[in-house]
Amino acid sequence: ARARGVRVVGEVELASLFLQGDTIGITGSNGKTTATALAGRLLEECGIPVQVGGNIGTIPAAAMAAASRPGQWNVLELSSFQLETIESFRARIAVALNVTQDHLDRHHTFAGYAAAKARLFETQGRDDFAVLNADDPTCGSYAARTAGQVFWFSLERAVRPGAWLEGGTLLLEGRPLLEAREIPLRGRHNIENVLAAALAAWLTGASVEGIAAGIRAFRAVEHRLEFVRRAGGVDYYNDSKATNVDSALKAIDSFEGGLWIILGGKDKGSDYAPLAAPLAAKARAALLIGAAAPLIERQLAGSVPLAHCGTIETAVRTAFERAAPGDTVLLAP
Ligand code: ADP
Repeated sequence: ARARGVRVVGEVELASLFLQGDTIGITGSNGKTTATALAGRLLEECGIPVQVGGNIGTIPAAAMAAASRPGQWNVLELSSFQLETIESFRARIAVALNVTQDHLDRHHTFAGYAAAKARLFETQGRDDFAVLNADDPTCGSYAARTAGQVFWFSLERAVRPGAWLEGGTLLLEGRPLLEAREIPLRGRHNIENVLAAALAAWLTGASVEGIAAGIRAFRAVEHRLEFVRRAGGVDYYNDSKATNVDSALKAIDSFEGGLWIILGGKDKGSDYAPLAAPLAAKARAALLIGAAAPLIERQLAGSVPLAHCGTIETAVRTAFERAAPGDTVLLAP
């Protein structure tokens, strides 16, 4: 169609022509669904009219148009694939959680992938807000791509204007929000998601007390580092949405050790070598499945015992037979 000079409009762009109310757009390589669901929950908790959709669940942005109305917020999870084709779509609040290697099979280079996500910031105006991860250099670079006002979040240092972790306390513009140990989600990466969602909610006018209450009441979205059950003293965790190397690293980082980790699936042109050191430190074995197994084996050989399992069923059975009480079986493929 493009070759024939026909205008091609993406679904999010199309939806934006009909969506009423303001929009929070959330992108990132990982954490989009978690942060989007949480942001929606926080607005709800504060009595602010909201609907949630986009790349999350089964409600695309276009399907939200009919129910949208002025004064209501649309919280949209947005992938690089969706942002690639926006032209006039504009988020009043645009959030970038992180940009790490993913989807190279589609975008070819990291720069191309980062540029697709940058579109979310490039369409913003002066009255809009950008919420950016100060600890992630690519997210930081989006500050120069937006005309809006930038708010930062960080796990490492005080960032103004913004939200950050200090000691064990989450601070919002310097005001205590809640303690990190009160967050009912596993892993430091989820503190980033919480800071980002809290900032976005706060920018819509939500109260600090309401935001804190909403965070305390939130539960992990299914398949995101989700506790399944304990069997024979062994914990089983389902993190099947860990579909790139960074999310698998974050999953490993969320446990002390004793891991039987199921790795593999479809290769997207990723570099698996960063997994070697953390696996050597924390994993009893990596159980390999799917098409990417030979590639992963080549890059991880020597760092951790590897078992070729082929299917998830065999991998779980192998882990079940070999894990000792206190160990954890983790699907973070
Ligand atoms: P997305 O919608 O971007 O895929 P999800 O919330 O569905 O994000 O999480 C996908 C995977 O990334 C899960 O394995 C989850 O544990 C992990 N994850 C969640 N938040 C982060 C984060 N901020 N940084 C890195 N990994 C994350």
